[in-house]
Amino acid sequence: MKSRGGRPWLAARDQIRASEAGPESLNAFLALAEDGDMPDSVPDGPLSGVPVAVKDNLVTAGLPTTCASRLLEGYQSPFEATAVRRLRAAGAVVIGKTNMDEFGMGSSNEHSAFGPALNPVDRNRVPGGSSGGSAAAVAAGYVPIALGSDTGGSVRQPAAFCGVVGVKPTYGRVSRYGLVAFASSLDQVGALGRTVYDAARLLQAVSGHDPRDATSSTRPVPDLRAAASRGVGGLVVGIPDEYLRDGLDPAVRRCVDEGAEALHDAGAEIRQVSLPHTRFAVPCYQVLAAAEASSNLARFDGVRYGRRSGGDGDLGDLYEVTRTEGFGREVKRRIVLGTFVLSAGYQDRYYSQAQRVRALISADFGRAFNDGVHALFTPTTPTPAFRLGERLGNPVQMYLSDVYTVHANLSGIPAMSVPIGTVDGLPVGGQIMAPWWGEETLVSIGATLEARLGEGAG
Ligand code: GLN
Repeated sequence: MKSRGGRPWLAARDQIRASEAGPESLNAFLALAEDGDMPDSVPDGPLSGVPVAVKDNLVTAGLPTTCASRLLEGYQSPFEATAVRRLRAAGAVVIGKTNMDEFGMGSSNEHSAFGPALNPVDRNRVPGGSSGGSAAAVAAGYVPIALGSDTGGSVRQPAAFCGVVGVKPTYGRVSRYGLVAFASSLDQVGALGRTVYDAARLLQAVSGHDPRDATSSTRPVPDLRAAASRGVGGLVVGIPDEYLRDGLDPAVRRCVDEGAEALHDAGAEIRQVSLPHTRFAVPCYQVLAAAEASSNLARFDGVRYGRRSGGDGDLGDLYEVTRTEGFGREVKRRIVLGTFVLSAGYQDRYYSQAQRVRALISADFGRAFNDGVHALFTPTTPTPAFRLGERLGNPVQMYLSDVYTVHANLSGIPAMSVPIGTVDGLPVGGQIMAPWWGEETLVSIGATLEARLGEGAG
């Protein structure tokens, strides 16, 4: 045990508390750790003494877990998520719980019951979502690393909007024990960091098999930190044409072209590839994610967790009043949609059809990777961060924020967003996708882009 006399994490927490109480507040945190929630000393480990922020859908000892929902307001879990436990074992200090879209449903953090988090680069703009508070906290310099979760882009899209690094690992790389489920066939815990190295060391610390999560893999965890200095010589990087079409901001496109050129200059071979089913991904994702959400969120019934209202002896009334008052509009929209696509008579038309499309999207990736492509490079989002309120009235436009990110969740592959430039001062993210278990490749390519295009490079 290493004793840190001054407990520097208390100062870090105090600084966050002061800034968040002032006029420049980003509303990035839903809870901050009290002195008693933080250790006197930390174990020697790869993250010794590093303050870390945790998305509010990962359950924590000592701090409430609300998923930014009224339904779970004040809820205290009796146990802790494996990813959080591993962070503490690596020496990290949990500073607080970050704002998010309610239960992870959203792309702007505006669907939080506790108000939106703001983008530190431009406080009139959204930080992205659903891990908006985690991305804002890292971008603001409150913490160097933060945990998020990514079901359809919720780590990568906010990372891109805030100008930080975000990585969604391979399905099964990180235990989801203690992650409040949204869509179980898509959810992964992900890592955000100021740099590729930071995101890599955070991911490495939380990865690996956990007997408490049957979907977590027994594969050995690679040395991701070492991968950051490996370079891209000899790698074949595919650029899928379908990601560069309608709806892509031409200025974002220019950043992607520069990124590809930087990778070429660093020794990678750049190859055009085709992923023909790309355009079906958002509707496919929305059907499957809503179906799984409608089932997962059935547990919030006023009996077992968090809020309880109504009832008066009538169980049906208890469910109805609790859920009507507890869930926000977007969550209700997903539950209704999900229940519909699973209902008798419609299941085959929507849910089963979406399952078939999912297989086609995965097969596109399989073909590209079997043809000798080591990784794919695309924009993370079609535009930089949009203004607060801009997409709130139009759910379809909001869902289209994820046109480049849901594919990796549908097929389980790992993906990373790295800053690759700015448009009118707003950060632009480039997305790297690799085959299953290819996180090392993501880190090598990400670090190369960062070195060649990042702030202060060139
Ligand atoms: N924005 C997507 C959605 O609203 C993805 C969310 C996520 O990854 N949790 O479903």
